[in-house]
Amino acid sequence: MSSDATDCLIGFGANLGQPESALQQVIDHLQNTSTINSVVTSRPYQTRSVGDPDQPDYLNAAIRITTTLAAPELLQLLLEIEKNLGRQREHGSVWQPRKADLDILLFGSEIIRQNQLVVPHPRMTFRRFVLEPASEIANELIHPVCQVSIGDLLKKINQKKKFILLAVDAAFQEKNFFERVLEIQSINFSENRFHFAGSQTPDGIEIGCVKSAQQYRQQAATATLVAVFQEHVQRADWIRETQHFPGPSIVLVDDKPITFAKELDAACQAMMPLER
Ligand code: ADP
Ligand code: MG
Repeated sequence: MSSDATDCLIGFGANLGQPESALQQVIDHLQNTSTINSVVTSRPYQTRSVGDPDQPDYLNAAIRITTTLAAPELLQLLLEIEKNLGRQREHGSVWQPRKADLDILLFGSEIIRQNQLVVPHPRMTFRRFVLEPASEIANELIHPVCQVSIGDLLKKINQKKKFILLAVDAAFQEKNFFERVLEIQSINFSENRFHFAGSQTPDGIEIGCVKSAQQYRQQAATATLVAVFQEHVQRADWIRETQHFPGPSIVLVDDKPITFAKELDAACQAMMPLER
């Protein structure tokens, strides 16, 4: 490995066609790319589709490479590989079956927040289907935002108690909030049903609420996931800051109850044990 090569971690997911063969083709392609020096792959994991239980199961894996490419160049390469594997993008559709999805999880210790590229991948910290394969080949790599290793992130979601914090700004009225939660609860979650403050979902997930940076710091250590309403990110400075606090992962949820429910539901499902 040359001294200017970057150690990076890629997530692979596929649930259409022949996922095993797609994974092999991805590995072959990476190995035959001159700007990529080493390619190490986890074993494949079979996982239940998150967000849409009617989709076929996924095959997930993690791939660790060293590369002399810059992050945007690596993204281009991965998008080309996806394209070659025949993935069709349907505009506006998020949870569609895929021949291959390649994500840059970590790119050295770089933190990138561009429209086309966000690294570390924003949802990697609470997804078991990402962390479990990743820990096999990159257990010691440090997440540059959380300052926690991949192995420790996995331990966090393995802790029996799962606790989700909802971060909102102080101006958000408690009454409003309860109404919102009631509204959310009336939505039919696929498997999880959220109850507020102190009570639990059938999966043992607790939900709590923080309204200040100080509360966040106190609670974040025991939380598995922090959900932030998109609307509040615009308003409260401290919420923007939390993205740089060491701690659990943050998922941004839209303020619309449907999206909120869907995203949280998907986030919770993503923390469940993998099926083998
Ligand atoms: P996802 O992988 O989030 O389920 P898609 O694969 O459909 O969704 O999204 C692909 C787009 O996501 C790419 O065109 C790319 O511009 C953008 N993107 C942002 N950050 C990353 C990242 N870390 N890795 C891969 N793609 C990313
Ligand atoms: Mg992707």
